[in-house]
Amino acid sequence: MDKILRTLISDGKVSAALADATSLVAKAVKLQGLSPVSAAVLGKVMTAAAVMAAELKSNGEKLYINVKGDGPAGGVYVTADSKLNLKGYIDEPALTLRLADGSPDVEGAIGKGRLTVVRDMGLKENYSGTCPIETGSIEEMFTAYHLYSEQQPTAMFLKVITAPADRAKNADGKTKTARAQTTDGKTKNAGETEDGQTASVVFAGGLVVKAMPDCDREGLARALEIMDKIASSDIPFGSGWLEQTAARYLPAAPSAEYAPVFRCGCNRRYMKRIALALGRDELEKILAEDGEVSVQCHYCNKNYTFTAEDFNKAERSKK
Ligand SMILES: [Zn+2]
Repeated sequence: MDKILRTLISDGKVSAALADATSLVAKAVKLQGLSPVSAAVLGKVMTAAAVMAAELKSNGEKLYINVKGDGPAGGVYVTADSKLNLKGYIDEPALTLRLADGSPDVEGAIGKGRLTVVRDMGLKENYSGTCPIETGSIEEMFTAYHLYSEQQPTAMFLKVITAPADRAKNADGKTKTARAQTTDGKTKNAGETEDGQTASVVFAGGLVVKAMPDCDREGLARALEIMDKIASSDIPFGSGWLEQTAARYLPAAPSAEYAPVFRCGCNRRYMKRIALALGRDELEKILAEDGEVSVQCHYCNKNYTFTAEDFNKAERSKK
């Protein structure tokens, strides 16, 4: 089960959130059939979002996070609420960009652009904050966002580890093939290379440290030292990492614990509204050509099909 554990370090001057978001990231990756590189990008954004969701104070509050760079990843979209329900997707599911050492080139995949965070607190107007993405580093963009929008010095360490999915899993990866075909019109042959397969997420998690208002330079420096130790620790990334890391490096009793989960929550009614947003003319055209309109949920890849009859009913219920 995924977990976020928050505690105070550096004599109570720094808040530390240790996160294991492996299951929720693995679910998104599996449903969307993401390549290991696409999984690394989405996994890091979802982990950062889970920690931010754990800081939402009022019930029913929601976060919409959009990372939009000029790199091949396209946009990354994550929604999270105060109950720690998360969903997210990435425009390009089949990224293969890697660094010379073989690790996913997350920065190159994102490029330069903007990070936008919208907070829906159930008020008349949403609060929206945005900051430029300078390098494509997910850690850096979220750090910059916290400093600009909340004047809170923050540092984070995020880690996503994937292994190639085994062949048995790939053999029934129907969703993956469908998505790969619709994205760029070409069929990607799954199972030939690791990058052509749906990634199997071994670990997604990390640590976020935030200076409290009374934190001095020294307090923050000590927190960064702890973060470096955690990042380079010999504790294996996987199940048990969070507990072992907490016991060794964050000995103070946790002040709060959270259990983030992946939850899409799409339904026919919502997806019909999306279909209607295509406009009458476009809908009529598709219905005339195909006899039905199908809309795929970006988050869980579920397909919804509507016929002319469905729309007529929708029209009637409006009157
Ligand atoms: Zn869905």
